[in-house]
Parts: sequence; structure tokens; C-alpha cells
Amino acid sequence: MNIVFLGLPGTGKGTQAEELSRELNIPHIATGDIFRQAISRGTELGKKAKNYLDSGELVPDEVTCGMVKERLAEGDTKSGFILDGFPRNIAQAEALDKIMEELGKKLEKVIFFSAPEEVLTQRLSGRRVCSECGATYHIEFNPPSSEGICDRCGGKLIQREDDREETVIHRLKVNRDKTQQLVDYYDKQGKIVTINADKSLEQVRKQLKEAVVSQ
Ligand code: ADP
Ligand code: AMP
Repeated sequence: MNIVFLGLPGTGKGTQAEELSRELNIPHIATGDIFRQAISRGTELGKKAKNYLDSGELVPDEVTCGMVKERLAEGDTKSGFILDGFPRNIAQAEALDKIMEELGKKLEKVIFFSAPEEVLTQRLSGRRVCSECGATYHIEFNPPSSEGICDRCGGKLIQREDDREETVIHRLKVNRDKTQQLVDYYDKQGKIVTINADKSLEQVRKQLKEAVVSQ
């Protein structure tokens, strides 16, 4: 199944995608993760993206769309994928339609994670990620068993630079209108399924499962 996860930063897309991708045995492709990896490896892509991630702006479409096209052409997407964090604007959505057509694939569902912004600032400011394996935690809502240490690999948990308060506020502003435009775009295509992301991890997981099996 070819799925897009749409929603403002902090709505829980990455957390839910990790589990669903294991369950459906399809890759979780998060554009933010690809950029962060490229930055930490110091690649050309990383050099192009760094200033945008640091400031919470969107990386230019010509960089992002090419990268997504290459990733979706890889063999592991044969039985499907979860695309998380792309598209972020209408130009990217149109590019995705074209990419899918060229690759002979069909986008089946767009799951929209909906939650009020007060909840998102709280989630993003308490988010911690593993510096080794990238697993996501929250200091209050999803803490590791041992403070500052990843349950999965023992790596050190860190706060993302762009999860500091000023950048969080800016990221929400950058993405707010564009996200709503994307909801309308996919609604017209009959692909949107909205889930209430302002619920516990378990309740969101349950809604997501129902959304994935719904026609
Ligand atoms: P996104 O990928 O949409 O930016 P994440 O999955 O990284 O969001 O989640 C943002 C933060 O909120 C993380 O710290 C995560 O542990 C926490 N979180 C995710 N879903 C929930 C939830 N349903 N309830 C409470 N906290 C959550
Ligand atoms: P995320 O991990 O989804 O919160 O994304 C982190 C950052 O990566 C964003 O603030 C942008 O700078 C960049 N980014 C991720 N996805 C995209 C995209 N589809 N288009 C442009 N920039 C993106």
C-alpha cells in the first residue's frame, strides 16, 4: 500500500509510521530523516539542506522532489511505502503525482493527522531522539526506561536543534497554510482520511489501523 502521512510537525507521524511500517513490512520514508542523515554525513545534499533545517524553512522543491523521486524508485518500495513529511506544499503534491505516474505506482491513501497547535508545541519541546538509531521519545508522554538513554540501542538521546521553542513556532507558521491546502488537494482526489491525533499513542494507533483498512 502506498500511503502519505500528512500533518503539522509534532502530530505523531514519525512515531506511528515506525510501527506501521514494521507491521506492513513497507519502508518508512521520512524526508526530514533523509535530510538529517545527509547533514550528519556531510554529503552534497546535506550541505544544500542544512541552513533550511536549522531555521525551520522548507528545503527548495527542486532539491526535495528529486531526492524523493530517487528514493521511491528503489526496490524496497515494491509492495508499498509510508511517505512522511512529503509533500509539504502543492508544488510537491503535483510533483508526487507525476513521480507516481512515471514509476507506474498509485497513491492510495493520505492520512491526515489533526491536532491543535498548543498540543504540538508541548510535544515538540519534549521530544528527544536517539543520536544513534533515530528512535523517538517524549520526556513526559513516551519516556525511555532510563533517562537520556535509548531503550532500543542504548544510544544517547538528544533534542533536535529545530525543536527549540523559537524554531518550533516558526515551523508551525511555515507549514500551517500549506498543510491545509494539501488537505483540500487530496480531499478533492478522495484520498484523505483524517484521524484525531490529539489522543493517546494507543488511541491514535487504533484509528490509524482502521484508516488503513478502510476503503
Ligand atoms: P512528527 O513525526 O509528526 O513530527 P513525532 O512522531 O516525532 O511527530 O512526535 C512528536 C513528539 O510527540 C514525540 O516526542 C513523540 O514521542 C510525541 N508523541 C507522538 N504521538 C503522541 C501522542 N499520541 N500522545 C503524546 N505524545 C505523542
Ligand atoms: P521534519 O523531520 O518532517 O520535521 O522535517 C524537518 C525539516 O526538514 C523541515 O523543517 C524542513 O527544513 C525539512 N523538510 C522535511 N521535509 C521537507 C519537504 N517535503 N520539503 C521541504 N523541506 C522539508
